[in-house]
Amino acid sequence: MRTSPIYFDHASSTPVHPEIIKNLSELTLVHYANSESLHEAGLTIQTMIRKSREAIASLLGVLASEITFTSGATEANNILIKGIAFAYQHKGKHLITTSVEHSSVLESFQDLEKFFGFEVTYLPVDQDGRIRVGDLEKSLRKDTTLVSIMAVNNETGAIMPIQECAKIVHSNSQAIFHVDGVQALTKIDLDLRSIDCISFSAHKINGVKGSGLFVKKKNVQIHPLITGGSQEDGLRPGTPNAIHHILFAKTLRLALSQNKDRVRSIKSYLIDELIQIDGIVINSPLEGCSNYILNISCLKVPSQIMLSWLNQNKIYVSAMATCLNRDAQPSHVLEAMGFEGNRLNGVIRISIGYTNTMEEAKTLISVIKEGIVKHGRD
Ligand code: PMP
Repeated sequence: MRTSPIYFDHASSTPVHPEIIKNLSELTLVHYANSESLHEAGLTIQTMIRKSREAIASLLGVLASEITFTSGATEANNILIKGIAFAYQHKGKHLITTSVEHSSVLESFQDLEKFFGFEVTYLPVDQDGRIRVGDLEKSLRKDTTLVSIMAVNNETGAIMPIQECAKIVHSNSQAIFHVDGVQALTKIDLDLRSIDCISFSAHKINGVKGSGLFVKKKNVQIHPLITGGSQEDGLRPGTPNAIHHILFAKTLRLALSQNKDRVRSIKSYLIDELIQIDGIVINSPLEGCSNYILNISCLKVPSQIMLSWLNQNKIYVSAMATCLNRDAQPSHVLEAMGFEGNRLNGVIRISIGYTNTMEEAKTLISVIKEGIVKHGRD
């Protein structure tokens, strides 16, 4: 009997890299001073944050002054989306996003719509979960001030045509182009030159939770959502979580240097096996998809039953975005892709990480097969 659990839920969160855990305790023990304090202890931490910011900037190909640390991507998305909408409202109140964004993006837009009188266009997606650039072009207006499109969908792994979108936004409008880059960071090639601002999170790349950042190009104005100090250029005031900010650089470097081949082989093994199982369909696009996310539907077993079967067998996956798990609503992403009935109710998201092995993938397949035999309905 296997005793250790099998974890295939890396799009929700990842195990913290052992070197980061080690550094976390070492740094926490020594560097407890406030990084804004003017004594030597504070100044030492300030220097470490500056070095981390510079290292991240050079890894991402941006300027250090363009990086703002936050408590995660939810905060980064809120600060950017609402802050930009407020800062440019004298120019217009029309905004564009997609119907498949993470809840931190969607709900930011819904707030702007409901409480602040903005008008939002939600772009539809095709069966592969991707927006059509033609739809974006048609939606742009004179009064559009912000367009936000995710780089990689967190439920399906679909990669959005970000570079094409940036070009269309910049050549046809005055709007700022924001990208939720959480599931893309270190996992697909990202060229930030044409993107005005982008949000990232550390715990999706084997870093600590409660740690994130955004990149914002110099020309982009933001009305700060939180007031109270001049930290992070006044965009994210409050005593900095210095140790997290310092560790972001190492987290990024470690994630970039991971061997990505095993993740790719595991995903392709899973697809090969799953398509042969009667009653399983693949929802993730087969082309233009992240190697880290595989979304399937089991047409004969509802998600909750399959999830609980896998859980009993100590295999951890998700049905959809973890932030929405407790709502027990069907996935808005799969709905937007046009799926319904058993396909919508039988969704399973398998998300792969660097610690997964082929042996674990084989166990996952055989437990799914057993689950269909035990719980399947015809
Ligand atoms: N955007 C996407 C695409 C995500 O997958 C997540 C994490 N579920 C977030 C934003 C929010 O990130 P955080 O957990 O750092 O707030």
